[in-house]
Amino acid sequence: ISKEKGGTVPQFFNESMRNRFQERLLIENALRQAVDTGDFELYYQPKIKSGKVSSMEALIRWQDPVLGFVSPGTFIPIAEEIGLILQIDEWSLIEACKQNKKWQDEGLIHVPISANLSAKHFQHDFLIALIEKTLNESGMDPKYLKLEITESVFIKNPKHVAEVIHKLKSLGVLISIDDFGKGYSSLSQLLQLPIDEIKIDRQFIKDIDQHYKKELLVKSIFDIAHGLRLNVVAEGVETENERELLVQLGCDELQGYLFSPPVSRRDMEKFLCRKVEVRKIAHIITEQP
Ligand code: C2E
Ligand code: MG
Ligand code: MG
Ligand code: MG
Repeated sequence: ISKEKGGTVPQFFNESMRNRFQERLLIENALRQAVDTGDFELYYQPKIKSGKVSSMEALIRWQDPVLGFVSPGTFIPIAEEIGLILQIDEWSLIEACKQNKKWQDEGLIHVPISANLSAKHFQHDFLIALIEKTLNESGMDPKYLKLEITESVFIKNPKHVAEVIHKLKSLGVLISIDDFGKGYSSLSQLLQLPIDEIKIDRQFIKDIDQHYKKELLVKSIFDIAHGLRLNVVAEGVETENERELLVQLGCDELQGYLFSPPVSRRDMEKFLCRKVEVRKIAHIITEQP
């Protein structure tokens, strides 16, 4: 911090910035500790096809003893900046696959599990080995693992990224493009790469029934995607009207609070054991034991 005449605090570093800076340091330190102790939890959010759970997405949760609940939207970008994301995603991946294998072995459900992967993995050479290790340690059939990556992976070194994606595919896992349409979107990458699925970003899904332009855009994306034999998922479906229109437009899988928020392992198991209709999952899990 530069000292101005008289040593007053410069305007550009004010109280609220100081607080944010301190909060940021607190999060960084707590995060390092959480990574050491593996102090995370996975939540699971179902994806729905024809009224049934057709797959699940694993979403990380972090409850720090002092900071309380910190959302992944806050701590994942910090973990990416300070170099912790590789370890965090390693933990998520292995946990997700082991859990999915366990549910399969128990005869509770046989559906793919999706894991979110940071774009940072594509700047290193560990990813292939990490996926091999995950498959070995969990014993899960590779066809049950879907890797959700965002379009941002294509910004840096697209040639290298394409190679990595081909290698991943050769291991037998599936590739999904998350938050499709949200950011840097290169259709040519999609045409050239062996992608299995796109997940349309919630901004295009929200109130789609009330915005004709959104409907037109989403319908065109569905048509292109289906022409390419891609599975199409709508994320963030919250209303019955959105659901109805998306199904009518040919959406393959739906995900969102309308069906269920992400839930803990325990709540997911409660749901799986009761074999109730999926639309009731949100009610089931909030029932008292
Ligand atoms: P995402 O992969 O796009 O996940 C969707 C987010 O939207 C999740 O937030 C989910 O809880 C939320 N969501 C689901 N349905 C609805 C809905 O109907 N309405 C609304 N408004 N939101 C809905 P969450 O769990 O807070 O995760 C945020 C982001 O953090 C994820 O976005 C993903 O990019 C990242 N993330 C989560 N877990 C991991 C992980 O293990 N590794 C990495 N690298 N990133 C992760
Ligand atoms: Mg995702
Ligand atoms: Mg999104
Ligand atoms: Mg998403």
